[in-house]
Amino acid sequence: MNNDSLKVRFRPEVASFPAYRQGAGLKRAGFKLSSNESPWQPLPAILKAVQETDTFNRYANPQLPELRDKLAAKFAVAGDQIQFGAGSVAILYQLIHAVAGPGDNYICAEPSFEAYPLLGLASGAAQFGVPLTADARLNLPAMSRSINANTRAVILCSPNNPTGPVITETEFLEFMAAVPEHVLVVLDEAYAEFVRKADAVDGMKHLAAFPNLVVLRTFAKAQGIAGLRLGYGFADAGIWRAAAATAIPLSVSTVAEVAGIAALSDEAQTQMRGRVQLIVNRREALLDGVRALGFNPPDAQGNFIWLSNVEISRVGPKVFGDPGAKLAESFRQVDILVRHIPGRGVRITVGEAESVDAVLNALKDYLAQHAGEGKDD
Ligand SMILES: *Cc1c(COP(=O)(O)O)cnc(C)c1O
Repeated sequence: MNNDSLKVRFRPEVASFPAYRQGAGLKRAGFKLSSNESPWQPLPAILKAVQETDTFNRYANPQLPELRDKLAAKFAVAGDQIQFGAGSVAILYQLIHAVAGPGDNYICAEPSFEAYPLLGLASGAAQFGVPLTADARLNLPAMSRSINANTRAVILCSPNNPTGPVITETEFLEFMAAVPEHVLVVLDEAYAEFVRKADAVDGMKHLAAFPNLVVLRTFAKAQGIAGLRLGYGFADAGIWRAAAATAIPLSVSTVAEVAGIAALSDEAQTQMRGRVQLIVNRREALLDGVRALGFNPPDAQGNFIWLSNVEISRVGPKVFGDPGAKLAESFRQVDILVRHIPGRGVRITVGEAESVDAVLNALKDYLAQHAGEGKDD
């Protein structure tokens, strides 16, 4: 609530912009399946490293040299091709601010990651959202056709949050061939570790061929340390040199650095891959269960599944207004938090083993409770 005596003048676009909606908290015991987080405590090696860190009276070395060396070796790139940020979202801000100002625009898919439309707010750049295809995939030909003389960047998300499908290698290469070389292409691979589709794009394979390409990864999702805020990006060193002007200095903490180093040990990586495989197995079980209830969800390659409003009202009761809102509310009644994207649908994170049945039971209850209210077909 605003204090009436607040007289600070904000830029009109700032005052009128909707705030980023963080996944809601959970008051009682239940399942928080609203922010695509890991359901496990951080891995033992990460916990130990963080608990033993006693140097955070100091800033981290801004270069994060040890973490940089480890990532450079793991991904076979040069150290100066890597950028760190307090989450990969921070790197996205840095990039959009570096390339797009007033009069410029950048392009994303719609719906895609909720943070994208806000990225240009402070720099004054406009954002264009290009609708997905009917099967909830990025429409890359439409995205490249949307590029105009003022376009400075295109943000691609693979797998797409919130819908789940990946971009294929072929689609990506056709897209890159159609994009002018002065337009920055950001490929956000926040969920790369969960991908099992053989023909999914792997941005790291294409860095050398496309100097205008940035590949973003994060420690938040598969690596399971969302709350420590650590993301990274790969690109031509010239991109990071230019973008240095728009980075928030010293934003990666000493503790995040230590956790990142611990997460990259061979043992932690093996354990992480084991956990990711469990999530993938649960994802497939959840998809099977959801299909058995009559839904036709899009391919899910991240740690989440997607039920669009169209599907929710096709299988379930006809509701006035937003069927996703009604479904999310019925989940909340049984202490399951999911992400409702207004007017679009519901994204459900694949979490604890028990959450799979809990989600399926809640969906069954939703369909049963409203049976006979009239169907949308
Ligand atoms: C969760 C998510 C991120 C955020 O990553 P951080 O490193 O926590 O900032 C970035 N991109 C997409 C598509 C995401 O879903």
